[in-house]
Amino acid sequence: MSLLRVNDLKTYFDTDAGLVKAVDGVSFSVEQGETLGIVGESGCGKSVLSLSVMGLLSEPSGFVAGGDILFEDTDLLRLSESSMCSVRGNRISMIFQEPMTSLNPVMTVGEQIMEPLIVHRGMTQRAAFGETVEMLKRVRIAEPAQRMREYPHQLSGGMRQRVMIAMGLVCSPSLLIADEPTTALDVTVQAQILRLMNELKSVTGSSIIFITHDLGVIAQMAERVMVMYAGRAVENRDVGPLFKEPLHPYTRGLLRSIPLFCEKQDRLSTIPGVVPSPLKKIDGCKFHSRCGYAFDRCRSEEPPLFRLGAPGKNASVRCWLHENGKRDFTEGRR
Ligand code: SF4
Repeated sequence: MSLLRVNDLKTYFDTDAGLVKAVDGVSFSVEQGETLGIVGESGCGKSVLSLSVMGLLSEPSGFVAGGDILFEDTDLLRLSESSMCSVRGNRISMIFQEPMTSLNPVMTVGEQIMEPLIVHRGMTQRAAFGETVEMLKRVRIAEPAQRMREYPHQLSGGMRQRVMIAMGLVCSPSLLIADEPTTALDVTVQAQILRLMNELKSVTGSSIIFITHDLGVIAQMAERVMVMYAGRAVENRDVGPLFKEPLHPYTRGLLRSIPLFCEKQDRLSTIPGVVPSPLKKIDGCKFHSRCGYAFDRCRSEEPPLFRLGAPGKNASVRCWLHENGKRDFTEGRR
């Protein structure tokens, strides 16, 4: 049984300019102890997807228009707010991108980490204090008892992110959602945080959904990857096969955009154009205006997700080139 199963999720925003379909029919699953990477450019719907799972959409403009989210076979979308509160921060936790805006500036670090232990586990202040000191040691914060009395602004960016990880893991959740947890950090601190998350995962056995736009981070963290574009999943693969042989032209473009230090490159490869506005109605494949392989059918008919016998389990790709498992990567088709 999968720990989390999301089926045909549709999350929309009702705005003055019109209906924004931020997530438009996305399905995926996360197994016990697995790390699923979700990757895509800004605005592709990855963060809205995670907020939908956490039940943290900004209502009433943001709403789930369809689908279901099954966590340990409970449909989270059918839970009352009080039942969802007992899941959120307890069995499912989230680490946000920017700890300075996610941590409460007027509460000490210790109070913020202790809160879920007191609320969800019914611990006394004293027991929660002891547990929090241990958690801060696990995320390698020196002098934890002293740090617990400090406020977020007194800590460095790397320490604040460690505090967020401690908050996320303190109740030993079954599922941790990390939304760009290292984007605001410099590369050396980023490497330490990623190593730390992998170590803690091997100790706690938690499953992780790791959201990022950085394929290098995905390579270090994830076992499976879902690539998103314009609110849709366009490729689902195991991480090794995806890096070895990306199937969707968008994934190929993302991988080609990574600088290669072993080869001389005069110009960095880019994907032409920009992600289309979610308000714009697009006929056919949503990627066709940026795709070097597009042909007539791409402009009139949107491809479904084709399941493939490609290496790795649950491989699927949303591209007409892979209909019936066919692959054709002839360059410069248009
Ligand atoms: Fe490109 Fe067509 Fe495939 Fe879309 S369906 S990614 S436009 S080849």
